Amino acid sequence: MVCTPDALERMDVGVRDGRFAALAPPGSAPADAPTLDAGGCIVLPGLVDAHVHFREPGLVHKEDWGSASTAAVAGGVTTVLDMPNVLPPTATPAALEEKVARVAGRSRCHYGFYGLLAAANADQIEALAAAGAAGLKLFLGETTASLPAPADGALLEALRVAGACGLRTMVHAENGDLLAAAARRATGLDGLDAHLAARPALAEVEAVTRICLLASAAGAPLAIAHLAAAGAVRAVRRAKVDGVDVRGEACPHHLLLTHAQAAHLGSLAKVNPPLRTEADQAALWVGIADGTIDEIGSDHAPHATSEKAVAVAVAPAGFAGVQLTLPMLYGRLGPRRLVGLCAEGPARTWGLWPSKGRIALGADADLVVVRPHPPAQPAAQWSRHPDGPILRLCPPTAEVVATLVDGRPVWLHGAPRGSPAGRWLRR
Ligand SMILES: [Zn+2]
Repeated sequence: MVCTPDALERMDVGVRDGRFAALAPPGSAPADAPTLDAGGCIVLPGLVDAHVHFREPGLVHKEDWGSASTAAVAGGVTTVLDMPNVLPPTATPAALEEKVARVAGRSRCHYGFYGLLAAANADQIEALAAAGAAGLKLFLGETTASLPAPADGALLEALRVAGACGLRTMVHAENGDLLAAAARRATGLDGLDAHLAARPALAEVEAVTRICLLASAAGAPLAIAHLAAAGAVRAVRRAKVDGVDVRGEACPHHLLLTHAQAAHLGSLAKVNPPLRTEADQAALWVGIADGTIDEIGSDHAPHATSEKAVAVAVAPAGFAGVQLTLPMLYGRLGPRRLVGLCAEGPARTWGLWPSKGRIALGADADLVVVRPHPPAQPAAQWSRHPDGPILRLCPPTAEVVATLVDGRPVWLHGAPRGSPAGRWLRR
């Protein structure tokens, strides 16, 4: 059963020169063509995960490109867009070129790179666009790396430049000053309860609302990363009604887990924005149903086990996820909505449509073969540090049997295949 943009139907999929070359009735493949039998399975376009932290350069004790891109294809992800908060940050064309050179020949999936938009490099936007950055990433509020955003006036100007270059900006939207104030009030709490209290929904809602106003005034396209608060979903919905070019992203952990379910895991479940309430989670699902949320990104952000094995207050935020999106969300979304949110949606947001995100004649032959039953054994994890709340608490609902990139199997029956042949998708 093949999931095309129009239907879920039984067919043969033919591939030639790395592209889909035939969508034909079953049994119509030429007898001498090499085939992959996907009987009993569902065939989807390869997932596009537009929010990963593969940690190169500078943070390879947490993850490296080889392990991360293997985890990606093990999870049916054939394209990733990698975040710029590495060491050094991807803040200049030289840093972008260094990343391109490092990853060349080492990636099992296709990849693109965000450039940073911060106070210190706001003059680099045009150069980053010319160097092929997939988009920009802006951190509003305190995050893992300290990369302060420009003040509002400079930010407005930077967004004007980004808009003129056609670069979309993805925003980590939490108001840092409101976070600091909330942290001062969060006394008498400990563990993840203190973390949740120190990162209130208000900080998210205010930042989403403000950046939508600024981007609208600047004529700059926007994407809001990891929506977690009900009010932030409403803010994106309002902005869309007002005509702002903003795309909403949600993450599997916010869709599948609440604070109450994961609080006992302590540092292991620490993430920004935090896992929130059932009401917040319900608002995310409403946002998916009404199109406020356009895409799902994993925010794959592993840390070394030793870094997480400390008190919540000092532990870094984030955990692995790129291999888990498809197995854990398949049962909740079904194949067509999964494709819409995890392949077509991000491909459209980041300029990869129509060559990626769909099974259609002429599109790149990136696909995943899924067996829609829970596997007998949990799948082996390929990230260097795969542990986290999704892995611990969410049962798999499907199994990735095979993943093809440019028509070649890169993942088959539980193991990587062939040499890494993922390409840099230079914007
Ligand atoms: Zn992130």
